[in-house]
Amino acid sequence: MRTKNSKAITGAESDHMQRVKELPCSVCGAPGPSEAHHIEQGMHLVVIPLCQDCHRGSFNGIHGQRRMWLVTKKTELSCLNETIRKLYADRLLARSA
Ligand SMILES: [Zn+2]
Ligand SMILES: [Zn+2]
Repeated sequence: MRTKNSKAITGAESDHMQRVKELPCSVCGAPGPSEAHHIEQGMHLVVIPLCQDCHRGSFNGIHGQRRMWLVTKKTELSCLNETIRKLYADRLLARSA
């Protein structure tokens, strides 16, 4: 979600966010396309893929009561770690193909 204070997104940041959005939800594994959640507002490289429910759902979502997050014991940083691993794994697979 963008605020009026966030800086303009560069091409590289836009590309990265697009790749993240193609991944399945980091929390429940629902297939993409996902929404990109900013761990810190305005940092467009620190984003994780979330389905609408794990993102903005009032019960399950990170912006709501976080029930799904509590059940799965995921954190924003554990999701970020997984996201980076998936992006690198994809790249290595593409390179060896
Ligand atoms: Zn989800
Ligand atoms: Zn968000």
